[in-house]
Amino acid sequence: MTTHPSISLHDLDLAGLREQLSADGINPHHAAALWRVLHRDGVATREGLLATGFLPPLHRWIEENVGEGLRFTLDLPELVEEIPSRDGLTHKFLLRLNDGQTIETVLMGYEGRHTVCLSTQAGCAMGCVFCATGQMGFVRHLRPGEIVAQVHHARRVLRALDPTKRVRNLVLMGMGEPLHNYDSVMQALGIISDTRGIAIGPARIAISTVGVVPAIRRLAEEGRPYRLAVSLHGSSEEERAALVPAAKRWSLAELIAACRDYGRDTGKRIFFEWTLIEGKNDSPETAVRLATLLEGMDAHVNLIPLNPTQGFEGIESGTAAARRFQSILREAGFPCTFRQRRGIDVDAGCGMLKAARERRVVN
Ligand code: SAH
Ligand code: SF4
Repeated sequence: MTTHPSISLHDLDLAGLREQLSADGINPHHAAALWRVLHRDGVATREGLLATGFLPPLHRWIEENVGEGLRFTLDLPELVEEIPSRDGLTHKFLLRLNDGQTIETVLMGYEGRHTVCLSTQAGCAMGCVFCATGQMGFVRHLRPGEIVAQVHHARRVLRALDPTKRVRNLVLMGMGEPLHNYDSVMQALGIISDTRGIAIGPARIAISTVGVVPAIRRLAEEGRPYRLAVSLHGSSEEERAALVPAAKRWSLAELIAACRDYGRDTGKRIFFEWTLIEGKNDSPETAVRLATLLEGMDAHVNLIPLNPTQGFEGIESGTAAARRFQSILREAGFPCTFRQRRGIDVDAGCGMLKAARERRVVN
C-alpha cells in the first residue's frame, strides 16, 4: 500500500473540497453537504462525519479517506487548559496541535458580542520586547486548518454555555504575526467568512500586524475585505525600534507610507494599536509626533495597557500620562480609545498563558 502524506480537510476551501472529490471520481455536488457539516455544524471527528447520514458515495469516501493514517485528517486540537476569568466573560484556551505545539485562543464576551482572538503562528519571529510570544521566538506557521479549528473550538464552548449566542467578531491578535503567514491566514479567513459555513462577515474580522510593509500593500492590491490594525508603539524611528525590532527591517517612514496608500486605495479606516509603557512611549511629545504622523488619515488609535511579562522590565503608564496621551490625539481629531484589560487574572496577554504554564512546569 502506498502511503500519502495526509492533509487536513479543514485546510480546504469549498472549491478545494470540490476538486478533491471530483479527482476521486465523486460528484462534486457532494462537497456542499460535507462543507456544511464540517463548518456550519462544526463536526470534527471521523465518527461524527460517519454518523451524519451522508449519501452512500460520500459516506464511503469518508470511510476510506478520512481519519488517522488515511489521506485526510481533521483538525481537532486538544484542550490542555481552559481558564475562565473571574468575571466569567473571558475564556482562555491553551490548545495542543497534532505535533505537540501549543497555542492560545481566547473567547471574549463583552457587551453581548462574542469575539474570538486567534493565533496564527506557534511563537513569533518579530521579537517585540514586551510580548510574551515574541520572547519565545518563532516555532512554526499554523496551517489554515489549525487557524479555522480555533474558531470551531470557541464556537463549541459558546454553544455549550449559551446556545442562543454566536461568535460575531474575530481578531487576529493571539500568538504570531498574521502577515508573516500570509497565504495560510488568507486561506483560513476565506473559509471562516464563507456564508455557507462559519459565516463571520469580513468586516467583523480584524487582522493585527506589527507592520509587514509588503504584505500591507498586498492586502490592498488584492482587495482583501478585512479590517486592518497596525501595531505602532513608537512615533520616531528610534522609539519604535527599541520596542519593535521588526522596525529595523521596515522603517516607520515606510510603514506610514504603506498605511497612507492603503487608506487611500481601499477607502478604509486603519486602527493603530499602541501599548503604553511608562517612560518609553507615553510622553506628550510622543503623542504630538504621532498625531503629526497620522495627519490626514482615517485613523483610530487604540491604547493598550501593558501586561507585565517575565522578559520585560517596563511598566504600564500611569493614569495621568495615559489620559494626557489620549487627549492630545483626540484634540488632533483622532478617535482614541482604551482597550479594556480583559481578564488580566487569566494571563490575558498574547502568549502569556503558554509562558505561565511553562514556568509552572519548570518550577
Ligand atoms: N503580531 C500581531 C498580532 C498579535 S499581538 C501584532 O503585533 O499586531 C496583538 C497586540 O497585542 C499587538 O498590538 C501587540 O503589540 C500587543 N501586545 C503584545 N504583548 C503585549 C503586552 N505584554 N502588553 C500589552 N500589549 C501587548
Ligand atoms: Fe509577534 Fe505581535 Fe508579539 Fe510582536 S507583538 S512579537 S509581532 S505577536
